[in-house]
Amino acid sequence: MALQQQKIERQPIGDDLYSENQQLRRQLKAFLSQARSNEQKMRRFQEQELQLIRLNSLVQLVNTIIYDYRTAFELDIVTLTLIDPSYELQHIMEDEGVILADHPALAFASTEDELDTFYGVTAGPQLGAYQPDQHAFLFPGVRTKPASVALMPLIRYDELIGSLNLGCMKSERFVAGSATDFLQRLSAVVAICLENAANHERLKRVGLTDFLTGINNRRFFDQRLGEEIMRAQRKETLLGCLLLDIDDFKRVNDTYGHRAGDQVLKEISFLTKQQLRGTDVFARFGGEEFSVLLIDSNGAVTLEIAERIRNAIAEQTVTLDDGQALQVTVSIGVSIYTGGEKVSGSFESAEMLVDQADQALYKAKNSGKNRVICFGKEQGLKIKSLAAEPERT
Ligand code: GH3
Ligand code: MG
Ligand code: MG
Repeated sequence: MALQQQKIERQPIGDDLYSENQQLRRQLKAFLSQARSNEQKMRRFQEQELQLIRLNSLVQLVNTIIYDYRTAFELDIVTLTLIDPSYELQHIMEDEGVILADHPALAFASTEDELDTFYGVTAGPQLGAYQPDQHAFLFPGVRTKPASVALMPLIRYDELIGSLNLGCMKSERFVAGSATDFLQRLSAVVAICLENAANHERLKRVGLTDFLTGINNRRFFDQRLGEEIMRAQRKETLLGCLLLDIDDFKRVNDTYGHRAGDQVLKEISFLTKQQLRGTDVFARFGGEEFSVLLIDSNGAVTLEIAERIRNAIAEQTVTLDDGQALQVTVSIGVSIYTGGEKVSGSFESAEMLVDQADQALYKAKNSGKNRVICFGKEQGLKIKSLAAEPERT
């Protein structure tokens, strides 16, 4: 009724107002269609968001991002770059049976620096034309390069954890300066989900065993260290501690690849274990560091065993899966718990023992590597005879 009245009143005013009204209607229609399209986009986005949140496995999550997003968001290319300095994420995925080389859309950076250059202080999505010299490494294995790209930083707790990289063959799809609300939200959700999935995987693996080498992990070592210190205090026995760090291991990774590095870690675990008794505690302390507790072992014996380990590793040639051979060495820091300062509790003593071994290790590194140094002694150890199994006191 009201509309009809309006029409009747409009007639005498003339064509101008009528055509203006027509134009407004057209605009309104365009706005509505834009709103509808935005609503559809939002719905599609929410569906994707829910799907991501439902996934717990890191592998499924990465799959969804690098494969399903292409169709869901009508993109030509989606790649994901994750910062993974200690190869933790790569190990998790390989452990789940993923052959990383089969998924070039997933890449790993060993430091933040490689990605920091894109995001710098802005920390927001970067939209614009594809620049081969700058962007190629974010789109590895992509034959037809995109015309425009949207690079989105993945940030958790103010730290860059990766980059989600979208590419389109149309140059007008991602233009510098356009609104990035959707993209910002998408990258925030992806970052949260990735972090959650990584934490979930970590939880599954926290047990007491290191899943690469099969030996005990740091958590086990810390537990046993406390117990062994208390036992040594009670029984008034000695406790030897070794911290072992592979020399120039980064170079092994850089030269032969991280799989070769992994093989070296396994080989070193094996060789070290061969020199120990069943009652000794041996653990992967972290990255390329191992720790040993020699129960009821005095200074001379501890040093001799450390030297045996160093020597066994230096003499061994590691043959990689592809047939290449390489040699690695280790530096070892030694400390002995003598129970001297009973005033300190077992926790402080445990901390001090590891700290002293670490200081000795530092000296071993600084004085040329491939050597054993005992805390409190300046010189590297020179052992005359390695023939006989030393007697433990
Ligand atoms: P240094 O002789 O002073 O000890 O030098 P380095 O190169 O051994 O020491 P640095 O701390 O610079 O590098 C250690 C490297 O070990 C860096 C890290 O990526 C690598 N690494 C840590 N954990 C793993 C792992 O599980 N597998 C592989 N392949 N590499 C690892
Ligand atoms: Mg180290
Ligand atoms: Mg090292």
